Amino acid sequence: MIIQVFKTHCENCGEEVESKVGVSSGGNEIIIDFIDGMEFYCNDCGSTTYIEVEKYTR
Ligand SMILES: [Zn+2]
Repeated sequence: MIIQVFKTHCENCGEEVESKVGVSSGGNEIIIDFIDGMEFYCNDCGSTTYIEVEKYTR
């Protein structure tokens, strides 16, 4: 079990926030199809920043 850590900044206060996702397959591969959105909870201001992953062609 490997823990992938995703980091961004809080949309409300700008503090660094992170979201941990456990992957059982191991390695450096992230299968993005299984990620359709992520929540980042900010301990600093208590708000949650959401990131949505959208798949499209152009
Ligand atoms: Zn914040």
